[in-house]
Amino acid sequence: MSSTIGTHLRAQNFIGGEWRDPADGARMEVFNPATAEPIAEVAESTAVDVDAAVAAASAGFEEWFDTTPAERSLLLLELANRIEQNAAELVRLESANVGKPLGMAREEIGAGAVDMVRFFAGAARTATALPAGEFLRDHTSMVRREPIGVVARIVPWNFPLFITLLGAGPALAAGNALIVKPSEETPLTALRLAELTEDLFPAGVFNVITGRGEEVGGALVRHPDVGMVSLVGDVGTGKIVAAEAAQTLKRVHLELGGKSPVVVFDDADVEAVARGIRFAGYLNSGQECQAASRIVAGPGIYEELLEALVAEVEQITVGDPADGEEIEMGPVVSRRQHERVLGFLERARANGAQFLTGGEGGAGDGYFVQPTVVTGVEQDSEIVQREVFGPVVTVQRFEDEEQALRWANDVRYGLAASVWTADHGRAMRMARRLKYGVVWINDHLALPTEVPAGGFKESGYGKDFSVYSLEDYTQIKSVISNIA
Ligand code: NAD
Repeated sequence: MSSTIGTHLRAQNFIGGEWRDPADGARMEVFNPATAEPIAEVAESTAVDVDAAVAAASAGFEEWFDTTPAERSLLLLELANRIEQNAAELVRLESANVGKPLGMAREEIGAGAVDMVRFFAGAARTATALPAGEFLRDHTSMVRREPIGVVARIVPWNFPLFITLLGAGPALAAGNALIVKPSEETPLTALRLAELTEDLFPAGVFNVITGRGEEVGGALVRHPDVGMVSLVGDVGTGKIVAAEAAQTLKRVHLELGGKSPVVVFDDADVEAVARGIRFAGYLNSGQECQAASRIVAGPGIYEELLEALVAEVEQITVGDPADGEEIEMGPVVSRRQHERVLGFLERARANGAQFLTGGEGGAGDGYFVQPTVVTGVEQDSEIVQREVFGPVVTVQRFEDEEQALRWANDVRYGLAASVWTADHGRAMRMARRLKYGVVWINDHLALPTEVPAGGFKESGYGKDFSVYSLEDYTQIKSVISNIA
């Protein structure tokens, strides 16, 4: 093994408070996408290991169910402290496994993830509901908000630790036991997180099991003792998970793909828009579900915006994040993703698209793609309609506000959108009519922990962040007592 970055982590699952070998002893390799070299081996689990994890989580839930919100809150605050204290190592692991620039990983883990866990530690103590009362004569009624039981959290590869915690925070705060299934591409920070929890939660409350999607994720979705599946992933995976979960009618929480429009009117601040897209379109190599990937710009600003945007994008320093802080963009996550992104670019080129900058893979063994700006694309073309999940931004010119709105809404996704204009009335009108779960005005990707985010349409259902998310991980019970 050419790098030792992940080799101290165990090729085992964390189940019931202890490290266990997978039942059949199989292992799978984990790679660094900047070099294409293996950096660790983890357990390749099967349905037998899933059964063990669900049994342990079911037992852990019984104990966790008896804790008070204040007790859970203290443990989550301690978890946040441990993540903060170990942030430098978690950042190194995440950067090497995902190809993330160091500064970005630091922001994501040391600031964002820690803040989020602290938010849910506080939110655990804030649940409100209808006050108990005599709504029928001679009867007192009350509403209880209860945890669901065992929650399976299935995580993608783009923000592995952050998205693990985005589900773990509300699920644990609400009193559920959790089984995390990280992506097969990027399991290292979830395993390190499990180590950090070893002596923290009661055994079985927090479990991590590694393995492949259909084998391990599918077994969790099908398991009758899992009460809820919370998936962040592809739309196609979401549809499979929802269909399989229907067999046991378990609750499903789905945060899926996106194709966020960036609607730029002629009166927008062109430099601010270009800087905003440089950040929100190319962050994490564009592997961000809310990425500013699809610009629709007014006739009076289009040319000027293209010029400003290309100038910004050409300043992005691409390279192996291990080379230093000046690297703004790393590779995409895997060979598979590299082929997928380059496939989109080839087909767009064949259909007459023009690349104002970028459009190619990078040199060397790593999975690099040049930051790319694409024009000359039709509204119904593949590169406008489908999520590329790479550093690729398309720009279209609209004629008027109605066409801008129609194009903006004309995709099957509904995760997030942004409007850029100096006209307040127009901004609010667009915010109302855009069919997206999040709308930014003169910004893109600002995400306060207190504010819910989540999709419309095929981007899924259920909210992340905020107390709305906490509620998604609970169920309501009514107790009505005859008091005559
Ligand atoms: P993916 O759907 O391939 O995998 C996500 C997870 O699901 C992985 O852990 C995988 O092992 C598991 N999985 C795969 N098949 C499964 C099955 N049949 N049953 C159960 N689990 C299964 O997605 P990915 O390629 O890892 O991540 C990229 C996708 O995630 C993109 O489409 C992106 O838009 C989406 N995403 C969405 C959000 C959001 O908040 N909406 C955030 C990040 C990423």
